Amino acid sequence: MRVGELGEFVLIERLAAILAGRPAYPAEGRIRLGIGDDAAVLEVGRDRDWVATTDTLIEGVHFRREWTSPEDLGWKALAVNVSDLGAMGAAPTAALVCIALPTGTESEWIECFYRGMADCAAVYGCPIAGGDTVRSPSAIAISVTAVGAIGRGAAVTRSGAGNGDLICVTGTLGDSAAGLALLAGGHSPEDRPEYVPLFRAHLRPAPPVGAARALARGGVSAMMDLSDGLASDLARLSEASGAGGRVFQDRLPISLLARGAAEELNLPPEEWAVRGGEDYEYLFTVAPDRFAPLPALLAQHGVTATIVGEICDANLVLVDSGGEPTVLPPPAFSHFD
Ligand code: ADP
Ligand code: MG
Repeated sequence: MRVGELGEFVLIERLAAILAGRPAYPAEGRIRLGIGDDAAVLEVGRDRDWVATTDTLIEGVHFRREWTSPEDLGWKALAVNVSDLGAMGAAPTAALVCIALPTGTESEWIECFYRGMADCAAVYGCPIAGGDTVRSPSAIAISVTAVGAIGRGAAVTRSGAGNGDLICVTGTLGDSAAGLALLAGGHSPEDRPEYVPLFRAHLRPAPPVGAARALARGGVSAMMDLSDGLASDLARLSEASGAGGRVFQDRLPISLLARGAAEELNLPPEEWAVRGGEDYEYLFTVAPDRFAPLPALLAQHGVTATIVGEICDANLVLVDSGGEPTVLPPPAFSHFD
């Protein structure tokens, strides 16, 4: 069967089964957490674990050169990886970068990409420690692998949400999707400067990694970054936790700017908040009696948190403003659909 018919998630399951069928013992024991979370967790020492993650950007699939500057793209390529490290509660250590370039690529383009990546590396304290450079027959492909560190056994997974836990998100949802919709509608930061925060949310996301680490220390029960959209990501968290939940549409934190853009484009902003991807905020669950100190903890990082729902043992549903529940659909974006 072709991978396009299989879909991304089924393909990953099949690949995971192949690896599980031929375990690399005794090294396997060092994998505290393998395939299925934001990042892998590896035992490397007595009191620290390593966290490792990788993400790839392909021209025409993840970015278009007309819409994004190489500086912003370089920033984003690293930012999405440190975002996954933060999702486990880890601090970034360093990253490796593989670039596959058509021979006709202007060196200026990839040098600007590296300037943006270096800016991100400096902000997050995640230096680039090496990589690989190869030729690509057509599109540009860039793959970043980042590693981070966390106290032994302290990584926060997707699977720890328990019945009655509050479902929370950091920041606002849908700004990135709003920025993308504006770009797709032919707008640019130059002609619509009032929407710069929305364009930036899409082109130069700044995951609140320090805040995520504070949440991990603050005792949240499960956490992941919001990369595919709340509906899809929450479905994965609730599946990993073996639980269901209720999310209330009225409680979704949507910025005034995103609401303004939605009105102008005549689109529902809730759709961006629920299904729009690439927010690079954090989705977390926490026992109700452990929530109280979190807002002040996050405020130290300039980050807000909103309770959007609760974990329960029924189906995962989105409750609209009229109180009507709809079952949250399966993941909205699969790479091979
Ligand atoms: P995220 O959206 O957080 O980046 P993904 O959806 O890309 O996560 O990946 C889900 C899980 O599957 C992760 O644990 C990832 O490491 C694993 N995974 C994805 N592709 C592969 C692959 N080709 N081989 C092994 N594991 C993979
Ligand atoms: Mg992730």
